[in-house]
Amino acid sequence: MDHTILITGGAGFIGSHVVRLFVNNYPQYKIVNLDALTYAGNLENLNDIKDKPNYTFVKGDITDEAFIDELFQEFAFDGVIHLAAESHVDRSIMDPLAFIKTNVMGTATLLNTARKYWKDNLEGKRFYHISTDEVYGSLGQEGFFTEETPYDPRSPYSASKASSDHFVMAWYHTYHLPVVISNCSNNYGSNHFPEKLIPLAIHNIKNNKPVPVYGKGENVRDWLFVEDHARAIDTIYHKGRIGETYNIGGFNEWKNIDLINLLCIIMDKKLGRAPGTSASLITFVKDRAGHDLRYAIDATKLNKELGWYPSLQFEEGLEKTVDWYLSNEEWLDHVTSGAYQDYYSDQYQKR
Ligand code: NAD
Repeated sequence: MDHTILITGGAGFIGSHVVRLFVNNYPQYKIVNLDALTYAGNLENLNDIKDKPNYTFVKGDITDEAFIDELFQEFAFDGVIHLAAESHVDRSIMDPLAFIKTNVMGTATLLNTARKYWKDNLEGKRFYHISTDEVYGSLGQEGFFTEETPYDPRSPYSASKASSDHFVMAWYHTYHLPVVISNCSNNYGSNHFPEKLIPLAIHNIKNNKPVPVYGKGENVRDWLFVEDHARAIDTIYHKGRIGETYNIGGFNEWKNIDLINLLCIIMDKKLGRAPGTSASLITFVKDRAGHDLRYAIDATKLNKELGWYPSLQFEEGLEKTVDWYLSNEEWLDHVTSGAYQDYYSDQYQKR
């Protein structure tokens, strides 16, 4: 094992795909997955790789300074890929301080500890921070977010991620910590907690429940298959230039209502239902406070400089995602039981 990487948030949606890719593709690396297992962390996401010799799971909190210090001492990490975060915008509106604690203080704790252990020998070290396009704010009908777009976060979630990005760059400029950042568009795919639009819609359609769509469904998001994001993270970790930011996206914009209609067509087909059955479940709900109108990523820098491109067309990725949810009922049942249900009945009031 010639290289030890700490991956934070590896039991979550994107993190589990990143852990799997690194464990499988780099048997010569030691991968340590640190996750606090909040409501969003699910070790079932990693059942297939949990016994691999180059994989270790550690339960812990990135805001716990003493614990993070011990972890660095024990494993002598060469790299950090930092995904742990509170990640759901609606939850950030209800409980903003939790987001500041994990996303800002947690990131600063990791940066400070990496600096402490690496400062005498920065050779071969890398701190890779995973962030979101939401830090750039909201676009009108035209234009794209580039790496030069000024930050303009609007929600407590995006403000906490923007803040963490700034701290990462501060550690680079002030302490020369070898950092790299990527800002990605909305992800979809397997292992996605069903509080987010696509898995929630699949779950509700399957169970003949209303499919909540904010406002009139006019908001535009740029969607990327999660396994393509994990491939981009692999590329940037190994080839990205220190001190740089890379935007990740697939030039794949969809209005929420168009996406849900496409999903309904796929679901009718998969479930053998008459055309239009799933679409009849669409229910418009009160819009999210401060709802950003449009996000769209320009990933040209990543395409041209590092040669990464998405591997899937959206329709293909969406169909794969539906197939996964329909054939992993046990996973879905486990995460949709208990507190999750109460949370959703409070959250989505009918208009
Ligand atoms: P997620 O909510 O599914 O997973 C987050 C993981 O972090 C969970 O496993 C959770 O248990 C863990 N975690 C939370 N607080 C922690 C703490 N204090 N200490 C240790 N672990 C903790 O999130 P995700 O959608 O997989 O997002 C992962 C990262 O990617 C986040 O940083 C997010 O901002 C970023 N991102 C997400 C998207 C998206 O579309 N989901 C897009 C761009 C960027």
